[in-house]
Amino acid sequence: MAYLHCHNCSWEQDDFWNKSYNPIRFLLTWEKMLLEDNLDAPFKTEDGKDITNRTVLSDALKHHAKRIRTMKWKTQADFMATDKEQRLCPNCGSKDLDID
Ligand SMILES: [Zn+2]
Repeated sequence: MAYLHCHNCSWEQDDFWNKSYNPIRFLLTWEKMLLEDNLDAPFKTEDGKDITNRTVLSDALKHHAKRIRTMKWKTQADFMATDKEQRLCPNCGSKDLDID
């Protein structure tokens, strides 16, 4: 896994995506709950909050939608194929981007 971030501000994007690591793949982990469980059944979060399966699923969709909206370069190959002068932080415009 490798992710891209800016040394000039706090901008970062998700780890680069591939066939086994991407938001769609993670959403599939919720498919059983979506299709087989009662959407209004109680669900206790790791921090002890009482919510429902419906909230769990809708929050997961919202979380992954945000990852897709904020992704600038989907793969490391996309990033490397971009001219160095055009590799600009979408938040501050800095060229000081780094892959960790
Ligand atoms: Zn920046």
